[in-house]
Amino acid sequence: MLRVTEIFHSIQGESTHAGRPCTFVRLTGCPMRCTWCDSEYTFTGGDHFSIEQILQKVRGFGCRLVEVTGGEPLAQREAFELIRQLCDEEYEVLIETGGYVSTTDVDERARVILDIKCPASGEAERNDWSNLGRLRADQDEVKFVIADASDWEFAKEIIEQYELEKRTNAILISPAWGLIDLQELAKWITESGLNVRMQLHLHKYIWGPDVQGV
Ligand code: SF4
Repeated sequence: MLRVTEIFHSIQGESTHAGRPCTFVRLTGCPMRCTWCDSEYTFTGGDHFSIEQILQKVRGFGCRLVEVTGGEPLAQREAFELIRQLCDEEYEVLIETGGYVSTTDVDERARVILDIKCPASGEAERNDWSNLGRLRADQDEVKFVIADASDWEFAKEIIEQYELEKRTNAILISPAWGLIDLQELAKWITESGLNVRMQLHLHKYIWGPDVQGV
């Protein structure tokens, strides 16, 4: 059984898939506590679902793009089997992971969107750097949430050190909601010359920052 906070159908708000209709399976629980976390409601509670029950709900939405997210979706062992079965049913599967749990056992057909935690998150010490070695240039993406200038400097160092421009499908630079001036971040990005992609949380602009299940 998996503990599930919500399963819903909406518009993908992030990554290179932003704007596409998507079914979200949001699993409960996370071992991290990022200072700016916008998903604290996933830390506790949730309902128990079998994999088959989750698949039935997903099938009901009739959408071929599915994201498994959280919380930290990979913190529940059975999540790996859920991902495999979604791939077996030929869904296009995205995994949004916080970067603390190893991605070793993620089905290779799924696309990984790997958060790299920056210092202002308070969780940079817990990045599992071995996850970067498993990134695939044709399908995986990394995401840095930037809250201040130190985070941006950190992101640039990591991009260079791990040659992420070559090793990922996209490097997503996401402003921490309400903590950083968007124009300033845009300026840093354009001045850097890096091949990165600034992204805004599309769903927050559509439905507001605190609404769940959309
Ligand atoms: S990893 Fe994600 S869900 Fe967990 S605390 Fe950080 S932002 Fe929140």
